[in-house]
Amino acid sequence: MSRSEILFNSAQRHIPGGVNSPVRAFRGVGGTPLFFKHAEGAYVVDEDDRRYVDYVGSWGPMILGHSHPDVLEAVRAQLVHGLSYGAPTALETEMAELICSLVPSMDMVRMVSSGTEATMSAIRLARGYTGRDSIIKFEGCYHGHSDSLLVKAGSGALTLGVPSSPGVPAAFAKHTLTLPYNDLAAVEQTLAEVGQEIACIIVEPVAGNMNCVPPVPGFLEGLRRLCDQHGVVLIFDEVMTGFRVALGGAQAYYGVTPDLSTFGKIVGGGMPVGCFGGKRVIMEQIAPLGPVYQAGTLSGNPLAMAAGLTTLKLISQPGFHESLTDYTRCMLQGLTERAQAAGIPFVTTQVGAMFGLYFSSADSITSFAEVMASDAERFKRFFHFMLEGGVYLAPSAF
Ligand code: PLP
Repeated sequence: MSRSEILFNSAQRHIPGGVNSPVRAFRGVGGTPLFFKHAEGAYVVDEDDRRYVDYVGSWGPMILGHSHPDVLEAVRAQLVHGLSYGAPTALETEMAELICSLVPSMDMVRMVSSGTEATMSAIRLARGYTGRDSIIKFEGCYHGHSDSLLVKAGSGALTLGVPSSPGVPAAFAKHTLTLPYNDLAAVEQTLAEVGQEIACIIVEPVAGNMNCVPPVPGFLEGLRRLCDQHGVVLIFDEVMTGFRVALGGAQAYYGVTPDLSTFGKIVGGGMPVGCFGGKRVIMEQIAPLGPVYQAGTLSGNPLAMAAGLTTLKLISQPGFHESLTDYTRCMLQGLTERAQAAGIPFVTTQVGAMFGLYFSSADSITSFAEVMASDAERFKRFFHFMLEGGVYLAPSAF
């Protein structure tokens, strides 16, 4: 029996991805679980040797495609398989310099090991800096898999004290206010009521986890103004938008400067890397300069830095981002033509080299629940149609 068959049987018995893992495999052609064994350039290959054009890119890091020769070479050539804990390597320092030169708000940057760690660290730093506890986030925005950030559903200040996702302890949810994305009036009202308790507002500047919902004109500028008025730290979570919407992230694209921002995905070129940074006065709160303890055993480790630095150097070459944006437009066009052929037309959004597909009007979508309700069934049909035609799309809707 092949591994696919064994795992398919496991899945049939409601054991998600296999007996030793809680991860569920996505269903491929014919309903069998999809396992990839090989990836190169724009392609992924499954265990039955089917080749697909990969529109997912491992959920974002593979901006240069899979197994890019320069990235692989940089990792292979990295002889120091050691750690930088407490003493940055030259690679980490070079990486920090490059990031600060590309991202407008970055005076200082700290390397960590994932997007989740970056957002958690930025929030903790904002709490340390302001001496306040609560945070405002937006419905449908995702900031990682930590307890305090998983609260997705619910909107309005009334969610204060109410854990709105299963499994989120009340103690964490209590300090998280979840407001509707793009609703500046809700933010203004909340800050007028409880502004003194709010340490930070964290937002995806383009809501990538609702597919790709751009901010309405004035939303990010309004957040900047309100944060200044109320002494609240503004955090842009650029884990998805960073180096993608523009080389300097969504903050460069929209010309709005956050106090702190967080990065992941592309920044590691496929290795576990994240980073957070921003205003010097806030970043200097980190020990040993300030009182906020922040460290990770693998932060800045040389193998990960080699992959990340090589990727950033390649994508920051003149003309790269422009071609990437053009390439994204072509990919979208190809998808749109396929969708029309399948009789499942959709509308698309594109901001720089980031895009989303909607089977209902993107203009009207403001919440994750709405996306799920309107898109899930049609997306599932489209996903399978495309898969059979050799195109692998993000199966986020199921
Ligand atoms: N923030 C955003 C906007 C994300 O899209 C993600 C992951 O998809 C994260 C944070 C968490 O990053 P990671 O999965 O690297 O922990």
